[in-house]
Amino acid sequence: MPQPTDQTRNFKPATLMVHGGTTRSGFGETSEALFLTQGFVYETAEAAEARFKGEEPGFIYSRYANPTTRMFEERMMALEGAGDARGTASGMAAVAAAIQCQVKAGDHVVAARALFGSCRYVVETVMARMGVDCTLVDGRNLDEWQKAVRPNTRVFFMETPTNPTLEVIDIAAVAAIAHAAGATLVVDNVFATPIHQKPLALGADVVVYSATKHIDGQGRCLGGIILSSKDWIDENLHDYYRHTGPALSPFNAWTLLKGLETLPLRVAQQTRSAATVADRLAESPKISRVLYPGREDHPDFAVARRQMAAGSTLVAFDVAGGKEAAFRFLNALRIILISNNLGDAKSLVTHPATTTHKNLSAEARAELGIDDGLVRLSLGLEDVEDLWDDIEGALNSI
Ligand SMILES: *Cc1c(COP(=O)(O)O)cnc(C)c1O
Repeated sequence: MPQPTDQTRNFKPATLMVHGGTTRSGFGETSEALFLTQGFVYETAEAAEARFKGEEPGFIYSRYANPTTRMFEERMMALEGAGDARGTASGMAAVAAAIQCQVKAGDHVVAARALFGSCRYVVETVMARMGVDCTLVDGRNLDEWQKAVRPNTRVFFMETPTNPTLEVIDIAAVAAIAHAAGATLVVDNVFATPIHQKPLALGADVVVYSATKHIDGQGRCLGGIILSSKDWIDENLHDYYRHTGPALSPFNAWTLLKGLETLPLRVAQQTRSAATVADRLAESPKISRVLYPGREDHPDFAVARRQMAAGSTLVAFDVAGGKEAAFRFLNALRIILISNNLGDAKSLVTHPATTTHKNLSAEARAELGIDDGLVRLSLGLEDVEDLWDDIEGALNSI
């Protein structure tokens, strides 16, 4: 595959997100070109043969790779410090491919139980159908990871901070247990964002994103990405990805490239707003619990401080009075919109117990700390004082 011409790897994130991975066409365009093409043509039959043999660089088919998609992959690799990457059609395509490409019937997966609903379906239900057993553990309890290990354990999987209660799992400690067991650690880094947390540097082997969230950040398109070392991608993902087709559309890759240009700015602003809102919520008599990894009263504050550059762009909190009070709060909001998405320019609020986590049993929800009064708030780019007025007004209406 052609490599970008500029050597931008040592730049800081804000610079990387504007210039990293850019490959210009012969027209010398300023903005990244959008290559809406399925295939590529060859000068001669010999050239086609050489490209298929891998003797000459170049693109073959957009299910394998595409110049616009490759720019997105290269920019993300630069940010993450990864040796290679593959863009995917959605975050779930990234999660499913990252796990499935490295297991076979008879293997075993260990996963932290506080997972995005679809991730839990993949590791529990899809894997079981393929003959791959899965053990779910409390991700913060290192003994549980250790005790879950079997001779056939191949993959450890987690997200941190978790959805929706923002628990923080010690990536370096879990990576050490995985590696001692001969397993690969895959981290879903969506909630942390690539700005606040670098799982590969902490010892993880593979990082996956739903680019649908902060990376697009403007509610436009779905996308995902898998990042790792070049060796891991070559050995595990390269053929699987080509032949099963989770490829990212070039149009969405282009949208995500433009999203990356403003990612550091947006995440910084959203994090500032989240920290402000978390501190003010903690003072409110209508709120019985605030969960924000950047606050000292967060149960995992020490781990968060060690492995994350800052808190989070989200805040979770319990509205005193359970479901009825939480619903009244949501319905009274005027700026903040009710939606299950996150990382958007628009502030979004969700009631996990009746939406994203409604398929879990009441016991499973209780185990994860998802009470009927729990609300998850994703901070957008609005002025924080307008957001706080909205929140305060809605709390007063309860
Ligand atoms: C949204 C999300 C996903 C799935 O991403 P899609 O792009 O919606 O497929 C996976 N993991 C986490 C933590 C998410 O928030």
